[in-house]
Amino acid sequence: MKNVIHAKCVKCGKIYESTPDLTNCTCGGILDIIYDYDYIKTQLTKEKLASRRDNSMWRYRELLPVEEPTPAPPLRVGWSPLYEASRLAKELGIARLYVKDDGVNPTASLKDRASSMAVAKAMEAGAKVIACSSTGNAASSLAGNAAAAGLKTYIFVPSRAPKGKVAQLMTFGATVISVQGSYEETFELSKQAIEKWGWYNRNAAINPYLSEGKKTVGLEIMEQLGWEVPDYIAISVGDGCTIAGLWKGLKDLYAIGFIDKLPRLISAQAEGCCPLNRAIETGEPWRPMEENTLADSIAVGVPRNADKALMAIRESNGLVVNVSDQEIMAAQKLLGRTCGVFGEPAGVTGTAGLKKLCEQGKIAPDATVVSVVTGNGLKDVANAIAACGEPISIPSDMERLLTAFAENGIVVD
Ligand SMILES: *Cc1c(COP(=O)(O)O)cnc(C)c1O
Ligand SMILES: [Zn+2]
Repeated sequence: MKNVIHAKCVKCGKIYESTPDLTNCTCGGILDIIYDYDYIKTQLTKEKLASRRDNSMWRYRELLPVEEPTPAPPLRVGWSPLYEASRLAKELGIARLYVKDDGVNPTASLKDRASSMAVAKAMEAGAKVIACSSTGNAASSLAGNAAAAGLKTYIFVPSRAPKGKVAQLMTFGATVISVQGSYEETFELSKQAIEKWGWYNRNAAINPYLSEGKKTVGLEIMEQLGWEVPDYIAISVGDGCTIAGLWKGLKDLYAIGFIDKLPRLISAQAEGCCPLNRAIETGEPWRPMEENTLADSIAVGVPRNADKALMAIRESNGLVVNVSDQEIMAAQKLLGRTCGVFGEPAGVTGTAGLKKLCEQGKIAPDATVVSVVTGNGLKDVANAIAACGEPISIPSDMERLLTAFAENGIVVD
């Protein structure tokens, strides 16, 4: 890889050659992929990008850690729409708001960006089997992207994972182990199994290439905004890989001179599980928390990528905000009603956080904000119905329709 210099431990600084099967540093720290930005600058220009027809995350190949001959995996991941959400902006009382809908990815979450990268690197490593543990989306995403590439998967999920995600896993032909325990316990079992059988590891924050896939969400936002840097980007946080990846992408663009400043990050977590935001608020090291929220994808009591996530929030002079399950459900409804975007609970937590910060007067009215919706609502229909209610149910009878409208205060105009 001409564009990559090496991998470096974020904790102790130890340097590693960037082989395709890299995992953690011997000190336990997470590795970061270090690029040769001078070389990349000679290879990539804004004009070159603009002329590209590849509408996927692989349009940014010069900024991605893959060998030149490595093909992009088959599923089309990335280049999700960035909608200007003017009605929602008005309701929140801010000048300009964009919604990046990553729920439109092939397996319906942002995790596809990491899984596409995992499949590319597994191919480079000559691996035939990939494994991971996940709250649900990384699992279904890996299973789908691997199935398309003809790789076998072993997947560990906590038994609480919503049915939609489990249905995806079974459909994609993964061997699925539903662990009767927390995500923490699920992760531990997967770790032991991966060690025992030597499978390619797609565990978040173990494989350093995954955030490099996730960073493409940041690259896309900036290209879609015509390189005009917003004031804030709001996103939900569990393990911390997504927010760290987003920040890496933005810093890459800054390093090659495509943008001239950096936005502030908004880290949104659930009140019932916010170990990273609590660390920022208290200035103390993070401590584990219960996994007490309906937003299952961010119910992460022991975040696996705390170091990179905390660094990203601090470096960006970011804001942290914790929202209740009630506020998450309200945001689900709000996004649906004002934008036509259907997010799962963790998917809309960034928007819920943004709404709360606006109400607290912490976002200036002239601000430009991007809110990333990280997963699709169809993955968890039970919670969507809990948030948005049941329909009017009547027999096929005009009289009953009139009565139902009257009872529900519906005036047809
Ligand atoms: C995984 C996930 C997140 C959080 O990403 P982390 O890397 O765990 O912080 C947010 N939303 C959805 C829908 C997810 O699947
Ligand atoms: Zn180290």
